[in-house]
Amino acid sequence: ASQRPGSTPANSPATFTHALPSYLDPNHLGPWGIYLQQVDRVTPYLGSLARWVETLKRPKRTLIVDVPILLDDGTTAHFEGYRVQHNTSRGPGKGGVRFHQDVTLSEVMALSAWMSIKNAAVNVPYGGAKGGIRVDPRQLSRGELERVTRRYTSEIGIIIGPTKDIPAPDVNTNEQVMAWMMDTYSMNEGSTATGVVTGKPVDLGGSLGRREATGRGVFTVGTEAAQRIGMDITQARVAVQGFGNVGGVAAKLFAEAGSKIVAVQDHGGTVYRESGLDVPALLAHVASHGTVAGFPQAEALSRDAFWDTPCDILIPAALEQQITEANAGRIQARMIIEGANGPTTPLADDILHERGVLVLPDVIANAGGVTVSYFEWVQDFSSFFWSEEEINERLVRIMKGAFAGVWQVAEEHKVSLRTATFIVACKRILHARDLRGLYP
Ligand code: GLU
Repeated sequence: ASQRPGSTPANSPATFTHALPSYLDPNHLGPWGIYLQQVDRVTPYLGSLARWVETLKRPKRTLIVDVPILLDDGTTAHFEGYRVQHNTSRGPGKGGVRFHQDVTLSEVMALSAWMSIKNAAVNVPYGGAKGGIRVDPRQLSRGELERVTRRYTSEIGIIIGPTKDIPAPDVNTNEQVMAWMMDTYSMNEGSTATGVVTGKPVDLGGSLGRREATGRGVFTVGTEAAQRIGMDITQARVAVQGFGNVGGVAAKLFAEAGSKIVAVQDHGGTVYRESGLDVPALLAHVASHGTVAGFPQAEALSRDAFWDTPCDILIPAALEQQITEANAGRIQARMIIEGANGPTTPLADDILHERGVLVLPDVIANAGGVTVSYFEWVQDFSSFFWSEEEINERLVRIMKGAFAGVWQVAEEHKVSLRTATFIVACKRILHARDLRGLYP
């Protein structure tokens, strides 16, 4: 018997409704597989909205682009780029662009889905999207980086726009990259469209406080949770993985509040100081050396020893799948604040839960960045800019309110904060989906 491509066998009762998508490899979980498990965990709590849950399990729109550029030596190089719009039920797509040699489509799909959840969790009027290019920007000259950015922007220009999908910085992208993206899109459109990206330089329609926003949100949520579990952050020892825009700012804010930053790990190495690292000095070292490695006022640790560090708070603020079943049992912290997206695998989540370690999940803990991105977008549309004080005050109010709501749902259903955040967010997304109805 002939079988329609993409469908399960003809005798399956779910022939058309639940055919396995081609990108799902049951033998290899990967970031998208992890996200699907998280959705499965929340489905029993969605009530009648669960009938729409399949919507969350398939990205709405996935674009793969070829990004050819002229290298400085006169040859041509091709890079693979992606932009995935996971969901737009609540508003335009929104999420960062990541430049990394190991980025994959599955990863960008998962990151786009986590953006949908995150945006709904803090109730900003966006769906979820994410982009990426498989390139190591450290290997490129400034000119090559600009050409990669511009060609990529032009290629995804058919699906992005201030009311369609708004990119922002993520791993290895920054304000300058956003300025080039804004310029390229605007050149193609024939008019300056500042609202097409967020995380721009302040002099180009960027927002005060955006650069620090993710780290500030990590600190705010961490402080709120600490109060609830009776942890005194002025006495807390903190270990941080990743010392960029998220980890660096979070470390600075915790240190200013009196915490001791005892260990920091980045792509180049791991530094430790029992009495607390001098964070401003470490930030200055990273600014000149590109890594924490070699910081003179600290002991060097092996990469693996980082996970055994005696500490009260652990902040993973680098890449996905760092806390796995292999190291979750060794973590000494009482609380983990996920500055990174997807740093903890579901198996590790279960181990940490059993051990009584509180995990503040990415989809709420690192939502400060996109919250101030929303403020930036609103300011661009109204061409009226707010003071930094106003921005930080509104950011803290939104983060505290969202966290309190999630905490209550977790207590009510006796579930982890991750499942609670997914309950709040998935209900919002699927309620919007339900109200809009199925087209045609
Ligand atoms: N890349 C950041 C995130 O994952 C920010 C996204 C945005 O501001 O749109 O949350």
